[in-house]
Amino acid sequence: MNWPGYIKPEEDEIFTSWFYRLCKEHRIKSHTFSKFFFDGLPIWNRDIDQYCPEIIKRKISEHTPLSKDRIENLFLSSFDGIVFNDVISTKSLLSIGINHRKRRKFGLLYCIGCLEKEVKFFKKSWRLTSSLVCLECSLKLLDSCPHCNSPIAFHRLENGIKGKIPENDLNSCYKCLRDITKTDKIYADDDSIKYQKYINNTIDFGFNDLTQYSFTFFSVLHELEHKLYSRSKKWNKFRIEVEKYRSISMLNKNLNRIKSREESLLITYELLESWPQKFINFLSGRKLTYSDFSKDFRDIPPFWFSNVLKFNI
Ligand SMILES: [Zn+2]
Ligand SMILES: [Zn+2]
Repeated sequence: MNWPGYIKPEEDEIFTSWFYRLCKEHRIKSHTFSKFFFDGLPIWNRDIDQYCPEIIKRKISEHTPLSKDRIENLFLSSFDGIVFNDVISTKSLLSIGINHRKRRKFGLLYCIGCLEKEVKFFKKSWRLTSSLVCLECSLKLLDSCPHCNSPIAFHRLENGIKGKIPENDLNSCYKCLRDITKTDKIYADDDSIKYQKYINNTIDFGFNDLTQYSFTFFSVLHELEHKLYSRSKKWNKFRIEVEKYRSISMLNKNLNRIKSREESLLITYELLESWPQKFINFLSGRKLTYSDFSKDFRDIPPFWFSNVLKFNI
């Protein structure tokens, strides 16, 4: 039997966003919803979009007209084999820093333009490290409330008075309750749009001009990006060379904030663009070793990348 207040998930909607809207539609709190329909499993003290117990997926299947594929598609695991190949250790997903029901990190992004629309919902791609721009609205994504700088944690909108049902729409900040879309829109520049188009195409196709396996592209993109923030005395050579090459400083930059990643992702993308010529040009004359790159890779670096390194350093 379908849930009485069933509403369909929107395209690319992430599970927790749909779940919040479902609870609101049923006029019950998520805790009560879970007690009735999910065997009382706790929802918010884990990253359920990343790791969802099978029983919840089964219950959704029993009580909605959604197909199994459509249900799988609500979760970040649907990026498996495309954006990453190991959900546990991937740098491709942003961490929301779960501490019981609290969120310590700025790992959920949003687009002002999208949250201004009639049906307000959060997208799966707003948990991807590689996301900087909403191509639909040509706007830069944000990672916190523009009024009080709190991380986005809409599930906490139902906190407060006992028994009170969730009433706020998903464009409200849980902390100050103000509308997170009521701030100046920042339009993306041409470089960011070009970057995001490349990223989105890579995800849509599952491959790009560098590799047949898109997850290896994301692995290299994020490993290199991480090196730009390295504070290691021994393994900071790549960062120092890029700082010289681009006349920038990565000091005081924070990988956990989208403002910093906007810079580091675009720099990394530029090095990988027109592969491998730009990267070879960058390597030439610089004293970088194979280990300066391979050091933090979980497995060995992919062949298309290591091969260029081997012959050019
Ligand atoms: Zn948008
Ligand atoms: Zn706020």
